[in-house]
Amino acid sequence: MNQDTICALATANGIGAIGIIRVSGEQAIEICEKCFDGKALTQQKSHTVHYGFIKDGDEVIDEVMVSIFLAPKSFTTENSVEISFHGSPHIGKRILEVLIKNGARMAKAGEFTMRAFMNGRIDLSQAESIADLIASENEASRKVALQQLKGGISQEISVLRNDLLNFVSLIELELDFAEEDVEFADRTALVQLLQKIESKLKSLIDSFQYGNAIKSGVAVAIIGKPNAGKSTLLNALLKEERAIVSDIAGTTRDTIEEVLHIKGNAFRLIDTAGLRETEDAIEAIGVVKAKEKVAKADVLVYLIDVATTDLKDDLAMLQELAREDLKIIICLTKIDEVDEADQKAKAIAKTLQSDIPSHELLQISAKENIHLQDLKDELSTYVEHLKSESNVVITNQRHYESLQKSIDAVYKVKEAITHQISTELLAYELRNALEHLGEISGEFTNDEVLGNIFSKFCIGK
Ligand code: GDP
Repeated sequence: MNQDTICALATANGIGAIGIIRVSGEQAIEICEKCFDGKALTQQKSHTVHYGFIKDGDEVIDEVMVSIFLAPKSFTTENSVEISFHGSPHIGKRILEVLIKNGARMAKAGEFTMRAFMNGRIDLSQAESIADLIASENEASRKVALQQLKGGISQEISVLRNDLLNFVSLIELELDFAEEDVEFADRTALVQLLQKIESKLKSLIDSFQYGNAIKSGVAVAIIGKPNAGKSTLLNALLKEERAIVSDIAGTTRDTIEEVLHIKGNAFRLIDTAGLRETEDAIEAIGVVKAKEKVAKADVLVYLIDVATTDLKDDLAMLQELAREDLKIIICLTKIDEVDEADQKAKAIAKTLQSDIPSHELLQISAKENIHLQDLKDELSTYVEHLKSESNVVITNQRHYESLQKSIDAVYKVKEAITHQISTELLAYELRNALEHLGEISGEFTNDEVLGNIFSKFCIGK
């Protein structure tokens, strides 16, 4: 149990209708009582709300509502108080000062959640999903974070871990009876279990690509020769959708990403600098620049004016940009402008088919809004295809790495069995696998990992 009582602003910094300060620790209620003019808080039941005033000595600071949560029925499992005050940053600061004067200390980033973890209320992956939930910007990422908060990934892994743990116990028992040459652990059943674990781990690992796509958004690059219609398409796509123009930290000003939401999934249109301003769009985009852009992308939307007869440059560019894990959608543009667009499209399709690896081909007009829905459907389909069979989705790089290490450890155990390696070594490899599986929920971890995870939280969480 932590002895310190911590306090922090739990709401966003800035003016709001109300602000909330959170206090947690053994002395939380006593400390609040000392600066509260109202009922005696230490005499109140858990989960009750009380009206009164926060005072600094004789001076009234604000009229507040105070909620009381008694251990262990609180987020941190400690005695906790939430003070709702009139949402001025200055009042918040004054209240924190009074709390500190009376024995609390300022919480560090993520310290409330860290206490919830340390006190066994949530496991590590759940703590991380709280951070994800707070950061969620779209439906898909909210749903996945919420599912993990409910313990999705930990449950799936803990079942496997327990089965494996049984085997480890049996194998270790064999070590105790080494002289007698007995086999308590049925090797065939062990191999079967390992196969089951391996396939489960594989499906979780595979889900990371989808998880990443919904957490960070799918990166889409729009490329094409000058005048192919890139900026017109960008504007048309963003017209109906909520567009977020953001300067991504640490990059130059001309790296601009705009976000398009389709069916609850986010698509980041990467490096659209210039595309928004039509006059800049004339600037030719060289192969090097295009490659840089596409290197960051999951999906390439390549535009070709349907009236184009000489495809040499486009073919060269597409061949240069194609890679195995890049989804290519080629859009023949301006179909409203030409007669017999279908005929022209067919001729282009033939050339592309023989020279360009697997791709989708669409005919669109951004200006007249023809078939833009097809393009959106194609983008959605890309995300749908990433969905794995597992109903739990991995979104966290740390979990992904632990799963990779776990599956490597499982391979080693299988190899050890195939080569009939000594029981000692087998037990060692099994323990190793158990440890990596335990890293996800935080059963095996170290201070550095914990510090790293919780420092990314905001103060007050
Ligand atoms: P970018 O250089 O690839 O960004 O191309 P723009 O989007 O600036 O388009 C070049 C020219 O083609 C502009 O005059 C657009 O109005 C026109 N344009 C773009 N898309 C369409 C389309 O779907 N139909 C027609 N008729 N004109 C288009």
